[in-house]
Amino acid sequence: MRPDGAPASGPVTIVGAGIVGICAASWLIRDGHDVTVIDEDEPGNRCSFGNAGGICPGSVVPLGMPGMMKKVPSWLTDPKGPLFVRMAHLPAALPWLLRFVAAGRRTRVEAISAAMAALHDETIVRYRDLVAWASCGELLVERGQLFLYESARELAGDGFGLELRRRAGVEMDILEADALRQLEPALAHRFSHAVFLPGQAQCLNPHRLVRELAARFVAEGGCIEQTRVTRLRAEDGRIAAIATEVGERRIGTLVIAAGAWSARLLKTAGIRIPLEAERGYHVTVADPGSAPRIQAMWAKRKFVVTPQEGGLRFAGTDEIAGLDAAPDMRRAQTLLDQGRELIPGLDAGRHTMWMGHRPGTPDSLPVLGRDDRYANLLHAFGHGHTGLMGASVSGHVIADLVAGRCPELDLAPYRPDRF
Ligand SMILES: Cc1cc2nc3c(=O)[nH]c(=O)nc-3n(C[C@H](O)[C@H](O)[C@H](O)COP(=O)(O)OP(=O)(O)OC[C@H]3O[C@@H](n4cnc5c(N)ncnc54)[C@H](O)[C@@H]3O)c2cc1C
Repeated sequence: MRPDGAPASGPVTIVGAGIVGICAASWLIRDGHDVTVIDEDEPGNRCSFGNAGGICPGSVVPLGMPGMMKKVPSWLTDPKGPLFVRMAHLPAALPWLLRFVAAGRRTRVEAISAAMAALHDETIVRYRDLVAWASCGELLVERGQLFLYESARELAGDGFGLELRRRAGVEMDILEADALRQLEPALAHRFSHAVFLPGQAQCLNPHRLVRELAARFVAEGGCIEQTRVTRLRAEDGRIAAIATEVGERRIGTLVIAAGAWSARLLKTAGIRIPLEAERGYHVTVADPGSAPRIQAMWAKRKFVVTPQEGGLRFAGTDEIAGLDAAPDMRRAQTLLDQGRELIPGLDAGRHTMWMGHRPGTPDSLPVLGRDDRYANLLHAFGHGHTGLMGASVSGHVIADLVAGRCPELDLAPYRPDRF
């Protein structure tokens, strides 16, 4: 047991029934705790609803990379680009953006990458366990992942990212055009090279995954309440209670897993965390006609195509526009247009579009672990672009901390007071 790892006392309340909160709830109920999850929405209805399903230990390359300063003008002027900042939100987002650029320094990126590798290393192993427990093993497929490049020069331009993966021990095969065509004949012939990462998995329906885990959690005696938490009330170095729309609730141990809304809630207890909603979009095509089998990322355009239970999903883009602005579905339309270029035989007749708020910290790492300011407060949010793959391990870490067990993961890189 760690010196600071005294077991938590009393019932556990988790705010947030996204994939992170529900994974934590699942591990906690398996440990025999009294657990309630509170969410203003139904489980998995927010960001965890429509992600690309990637569960990839090879995801060790942060969003912020060296050389970003050159790209700043396009963030403000190119609404079709992979990262776009809405002008109206720029003043509010500026401090976060400055930290984001600072996190792109080479030495910083190397440390962040090591922390991503440590967090994601066991993700597939943890999910195998969770989906077996919830009897939904069919949702987890292990087919690897592809990164697509249009020239040898473009591949070489990604050298630092490849180097980070090599350092993390990620297995990679470089494919040339002919091998790629044999592997995935549905893809356009414009790609001269691909990097294939064999040891990666996908979830075929991220929304159903949350619902299946939530259903098993409830079957095991867990409780899910649908109401909004409006405030945390601190008293004598603890969070004594939370205010909800249906009244106040006394707290034993509190876990904040409220995704992109976490910082807003924590502010009511005087805790300030730089968190932006990195808004992403998807288009899911119901009967695509032609489709790849393996999840693939078009490296230049920075979006992913991924087979799903409900069709073929194109997902990506990062729009900094805050929590409350309406979605801009032109971004989803851009994904669809680019999807047609990626898969020439695509039949996009029936499709749906969606936007979700990724909970983004400036350094691409979540906020995970105890908060030294309040003895009974734990954090599990801020997983940004990799929250599905981060959730299975983060949830386990939370269960370890509640039980007073020493987590296998060194939590220093994810500390809430690192900013
Ligand atoms: C287009 C796109 C593609 C992505 N692809 C991938 C991928 O391939 N792999 C991957 O690992 N990640 C991916 N992600 C990221 C991933 O989806 C997120 O990191 C993850 O879903 C975050 O989960 P969460 O539980 O933290 O947040 P959420 O799912 O948003 O859940 C937070 C919950 O908290 C609740 N809540 C908030 N405030 C309150 C309150 N005050 N009171 C009550 N309830 C509250 C909300 O209602 C919500 O249900 C992608 C994201 C997007 C947008």
